Amino acid sequence: MALYEKAPAKINLSLDVLNKRDDGLHNVEMIMTTIDLSDRIELTGLEQDKIKISLESRYVPSDERNLAYKAAETFKDKYGIKKGVHIKIEKSIPVSAGLGGGSADAAAVLRGLNRLWKMDLSMEELAAIGATIGSDVSFCIYGKTAIARGYGEKIETLTSPPPCWIILAKPDIGVSSRTIFEQINIERLYHPNTEKVIESLYEKDFYKLCRNIGNSLEPITSEIHPEVKHIKQAMKNIGASGVMMSGSGPTVYGLVEHENKAKRIYNGMRGFCDEVYLVRLIG
Ligand code: ATP
Repeated sequence: MALYEKAPAKINLSLDVLNKRDDGLHNVEMIMTTIDLSDRIELTGLEQDKIKISLESRYVPSDERNLAYKAAETFKDKYGIKKGVHIKIEKSIPVSAGLGGGSADAAAVLRGLNRLWKMDLSMEELAAIGATIGSDVSFCIYGKTAIARGYGEKIETLTSPPPCWIILAKPDIGVSSRTIFEQINIERLYHPNTEKVIESLYEKDFYKLCRNIGNSLEPITSEIHPEVKHIKQAMKNIGASGVMMSGSGPTVYGLVEHENKAKRIYNGMRGFCDEVYLVRLIG
């Protein structure tokens, strides 16, 4: 019998790069929250000891390079499981967009296998496995609003942002996080005010949140892809209250308090950019 898991995307309310470590990774401080734009994962147990991935996508491999495959392989190896699983992925989250789609899929597979094989592992245990797969997988296990530290694997949950609408606009390009991180000049980096973002969450102050969202990687990605700057400007001009790039980009999001205004901005952005979504926060 098949079992289903939702794999929701994330946006960064802040992303600060602190320093580069000896292992080549960067220490970061990121506040992330989950949005209602999700991939759908279907898991079916197999008696045979193999992992099979089915998905239709021009951009995502369906072999061992898929993060969902890596998640299942890591899970099986760690607990010595000799059974197999067929993983069907229906992608709705744009790929290489800064929305954590691959990590969301991997986390959904870990949560789903925990149910399928009745392992009864805690969220913390699943997050620890996730940390070995990708830097946003631990966050995606919880699917709440949280601050991530270390290379993204140390998660502390926070209160939810004030209710609002989110418009996502993705230019017609994909951005590899690795490429953007390679361009970082640590001396000249912009740093957001993470503390102020946290305060705005606890004060449920929508406009304070909008004033303080910030992303160290945004100047780097928009230098390489000026589309990001243009979309950001357009979204501001049309009236979004807070506008920022998510992750390493290129997706830009706008925060809007009221539904009518959000719909107006969504329609306006559709004239400007091919891929536009109107979503809500669920984290
Ligand atoms: P990142 O910050 O990790 O780059 P992202 O949200 O910008 O995340 P993803 O959509 O996760 O980007 O895709 C990043 C890369 O991961 C792509 O090259 C893609 O082919 C690969 N990938 C592997 N598995 C998946 C998956 N299940 N879904 C999406 N991408 C995947």
